[in-house]
Amino acid sequence: MLGALNLGACRPKPATPKAEISPSAAEAIFENPPTGSMASLPPAKAALRVNSARAMQYVREVVAIGPRPIGSAGHRKLEAYLRSHLHSDQLEEDGFTAATPVGALPARNFIAKFPGKKEGIIVVAGHYDTIYSLNNYVGANDSGSSTGLLLELASALRGKPREGESVWLVWLDAEEAVRQWTATDSLYGSRHLAEKWQHEGTTKKIKAFLLADMVGDADLNIDRDQNSTPWLLDTVREAATRLGYQSHFFARTITIEDDHLPFARAGVAVADLIDFDYGYNNVFWHTPQDTLDKLSPKSLEIVGNVLLETIHLLDGR
Ligand SMILES: [Zn+2]
Repeated sequence: MLGALNLGACRPKPATPKAEISPSAAEAIFENPPTGSMASLPPAKAALRVNSARAMQYVREVVAIGPRPIGSAGHRKLEAYLRSHLHSDQLEEDGFTAATPVGALPARNFIAKFPGKKEGIIVVAGHYDTIYSLNNYVGANDSGSSTGLLLELASALRGKPREGESVWLVWLDAEEAVRQWTATDSLYGSRHLAEKWQHEGTTKKIKAFLLADMVGDADLNIDRDQNSTPWLLDTVREAATRLGYQSHFFARTITIEDDHLPFARAGVAVADLIDFDYGYNNVFWHTPQDTLDKLSPKSLEIVGNVLLETIHLLDGR
């Protein structure tokens, strides 16, 4: 993605240590669901919670594949990996050809669907490709963190009856520029899917589009993005505050170009949860230093649980 600092709105980062939260009773219940058929489980009345160790394991396995740019062997391996985990989740594959400055490249969005009882759709998305041409780049945070966290969200949602809207998890492809970030050399997957969903009449059913990007940094500071929808950011803040995680959210305001933009242009309420301060002055971003040792399972847990709590709040509105 492309970010621009808004220095006028920029405030110093909080120096306080990370908030700790003890597991709630609901977490204990949903981490250890009663045995028996899923159909006999009571509907989830409290927000679900992620398993941070399992989330980190997904990220580790994704990163172990190596570089995953579009058109690469690593990308094909990751596609197979996603399929193997999501085959029971009403998986839809949205394959298309990206017209890039280096020619036509195959690309593919993955959509896993968790149906709810209410009309409407809540989307949680993240991109899964890595930058196009950089040797030794494994992209632990960009985009291993969002790829793995979405797999953990699928694990948390799977087999649980939903009282609220349907939740669709979307692994977007080809977010990264192939040569240099421009309006036409970037966001290939999200531009394609937003257009397809507009054509199919899906965009008007979407209550909220939540995007996660670069969410694994051990020093987690989610920025407040000015291209996101204010009321949805307020809902995210409310969710973070309910969980005691508010010190990780919105201390700094910046403007981010990311996969939420094509959906925002289609009239969808969007929120990009991104920590665009990865190492001092974002020094690890798009470098071979974007490695697993910079990440923390706690950060995946914070963002994952805030996303699930946000969905829970949206369910009631
Ligand atoms: Zn990137």
